[in-house]
Amino acid sequence: MEDVKFYTSIICGYCKEDVKNHGGKSIDHIIPKYLGGENKRRNYIICCKECNNWKANKTMLDWLISIEFYIDNQIPYRNFIPSRMGQIRKTIKTRFIKHIKYPI
Ligand SMILES: [Zn+2]
Repeated sequence: MEDVKFYTSIICGYCKEDVKNHGGKSIDHIIPKYLGGENKRRNYIICCKECNNWKANKTMLDWLISIEFYIDNQIPYRNFIPSRMGQIRKTIKTRFIKHIKYPI
């Protein structure tokens, strides 16, 4: 039971929603491995599988550009509603701003 309790309290590092509602927990490399991202804790983020799948091997800059395209054109991406995409955009522009200035 304790595991369940712990599991339900996990908030996605990108969209800030409970991972249990969005495919479950996953660990993403902030900087993708193929771009030199380290296999170290400082390069990890706990996030939902849906965010992880969307970000995939993109840099933060490329993901931000993709998100802004969907927001600007009012097109939903899979089941990402506009407010959720807005939260991811906010997360990237605050927590990961250095990756936007220096994408790699
Ligand atoms: Zn998420």
